[in-house]
Amino acid sequence: MENHMEEVALQLRDWSKMPTEILEQVCKRLTIPDQAAFIAVCKTWLSANTSKKASHWIPDAPWIVSNNYTSAQFQAISTTNNQAYNIYKPFNPLRNTYILGSSKGWLILKSDQNLFILNLFSKLRLDLPPLRTTPCSGGDCFGIHKPIVFTIDTCPNMNPTSVAVVTYKGDLGWCKVGDTTWKGYHTNDEFYSNVAFYDNKLYAVERDGLKVNIFKYDQGVLIKIGSVESTNPNEHIPDLSIPMCFINMSVYLVECGGKVFVVKRFSDNTKRNTPTRNFTIFAVEENCTTPQLVKVESLDDHILFVAGLNIECLDAKYCPKFQRDNVYFICYYEKSHRAEVKMFSVADRTIHKTLLNSTNMPTPSPIWMIPRFPFECVCEVCTSAPWFRPRELKKRLMLRKTNVA
Ligand SMILES: [Zn+2]
Repeated sequence: MENHMEEVALQLRDWSKMPTEILEQVCKRLTIPDQAAFIAVCKTWLSANTSKKASHWIPDAPWIVSNNYTSAQFQAISTTNNQAYNIYKPFNPLRNTYILGSSKGWLILKSDQNLFILNLFSKLRLDLPPLRTTPCSGGDCFGIHKPIVFTIDTCPNMNPTSVAVVTYKGDLGWCKVGDTTWKGYHTNDEFYSNVAFYDNKLYAVERDGLKVNIFKYDQGVLIKIGSVESTNPNEHIPDLSIPMCFINMSVYLVECGGKVFVVKRFSDNTKRNTPTRNFTIFAVEENCTTPQLVKVESLDDHILFVAGLNIECLDAKYCPKFQRDNVYFICYYEKSHRAEVKMFSVADRTIHKTLLNSTNMPTPSPIWMIPRFPFECVCEVCTSAPWFRPRELKKRLMLRKTNVA
């Protein structure tokens, strides 16, 4: 009898046998570094973190990650607790590998001839087709195929399924995760500046930000199905009290609350550090009688996060320290290696300082990254590219026990 009692007590103490539902609930309340420690405990706890039920949950506001390609570690700060972290790179840091950008919780990295996407916390890596297979519109000058902007489409469990890039030259590239070549679309009169996926369509904005072309890609190729243009280009030029030739313009595309927005950032290039002076935001209205770009006066409950050529949109409920209806943008001052986060209020069109501490800002070239782990998934796409099958995902994650230092 005594023995039996002891056995029961032992079983009760075995935390790996804790019901998954409870573990999932616990996990949802943890910050990302705590989740990393949590999944290192045992397989059951790992499952609780990567299971489908835990998905769609963004536990933290975006982190800020630096692009120091000479370091063996990524430097990152969590904006939730303002804590800095060093995360070891799961590749040889001497191969000139740098971050091209971040999309939906994944980083895209480029080394000499390779491109891959990486989940920073699980270190799950997915290789993309080699750069030499990027689309080309004739000529083969060094560097013109270099991707400068990218975006990721995801399955219902938020795992990557497709990637689109814009190259330095303005070409558009697209591939499914697992493809061996880039598939592109380009004609001589279209040069793109940015891309976004939404509603099983790929949106690509031209360099002047006045026209957005829309593509379908479900048959394995890109097919243009429409385009939306501005009917009043003058409306796109903000009053900056300096001539447009002294203005640098960056153009972004992002899905925000069920619409695709063209966001433009205007910086004064006569000043040192080219300070950002203004933003304009237009919605792609493709379903009205005259499809057009319509000026946006409010982001409602959303927040935009902008850095370099990257943009993310989140619901304010996931970001308690940030204010809704604002664009948070990172300014990086190359000469002084300093970075700061400022905010643009969409309602009153003014720029303000933020409380984010600039002294521990990771540099150089910091970007926003939505913190998340990959999730188990048996959707059609994830099954044909098997990284997210429960068994494979667990195997890969168990190999990387200490992810966040
Ligand atoms: Zn999936």
